Amino acid sequence: MINMQKKVNLKQFIFSTKGSSSIVVVCSAVMILLTAALVTDIGYAAFERYKLSKGAKEVAKIGAAELIKNRETAVRMMKENAVQKVSSLSEMDIKISDNHREISIRLGKPFEYIFLGYAGIQSKELKEGVTARLSGISQYKGIRPFAVEKQNFRFDQDFILSNQKSERPNSIRIRELDLGNGDFESSILYGFRKNLKAGNGVYPLNEFSKEQTEQCIKQLLDKCKHKPRCTPENYQRDCSRIMILPVVGKLQDENQEIMKIEGFTAFFIKNTNTTKQGLVLEGRFLKYTVDSRINDAVPDFGLMGIELIQ
Ligand SMILES: [Zn+2]
Repeated sequence: MINMQKKVNLKQFIFSTKGSSSIVVVCSAVMILLTAALVTDIGYAAFERYKLSKGAKEVAKIGAAELIKNRETAVRMMKENAVQKVSSLSEMDIKISDNHREISIRLGKPFEYIFLGYAGIQSKELKEGVTARLSGISQYKGIRPFAVEKQNFRFDQDFILSNQKSERPNSIRIRELDLGNGDFESSILYGFRKNLKAGNGVYPLNEFSKEQTEQCIKQLLDKCKHKPRCTPENYQRDCSRIMILPVVGKLQDENQEIMKIEGFTAFFIKNTNTTKQGLVLEGRFLKYTVDSRINDAVPDFGLMGIELIQ
């Protein structure tokens, strides 16, 4: 009697609507779990790949910024940073072009699925590579309002930038720029608010206060609070002492005469003083990189942009 009752119950369970619902619920739950596991693992793999790619890009940029100064230091810094930025690094391949304008890095790390491993799907090796290309920049937003004439800039010795003609050795003339009403002093402090391109024309500025200009430069130097104090050999990136200047074909004095921008250069200001002769900026031209669009047709004058190619 009891057995009969059990058989009936089982039959009822299998053929009743209630039983079908339960099987559907169980199957659905399994499907949902499997889908969730798949989505989680695919998402996890994508996230790990993204982190590896981000690490490779950061390392390539660090290497490129150093490559314009020193090849060996660039390679060493890339290796150190790759180990710091990517956990469980299993592969690192660095290639540098003969002209030092391209640096490629390929990084690899092992990857294991969290759930799919139970389904027999093998762990794999994630690999990501990127190439950083260096070239002259075609435009820049944030120049300081002084033009310098194009020449073979030297980066291994100090120069004096002066707005007056000078017989002093290592003296290079600069010319204040008329960038619009009231923009001169704010451009010294914060950089010119508009984008200037190679090929654009700029005009000399004839009316300005020397004292005010010197005050602005001193404020700029005071903004560098870095410790140890920045020097041309050892500085923090984007330090206020580093000016990006437009390089023009020929300096002009008359305010109607246009000066064509041929490229851009970077100058580190060590000190300033105003003499009877005018404004004097002591410092050094830098081999430096900035985030800006590059163009192989624009000469670099020591300042270059970095473009990442995947
Ligand atoms: Zn600084």
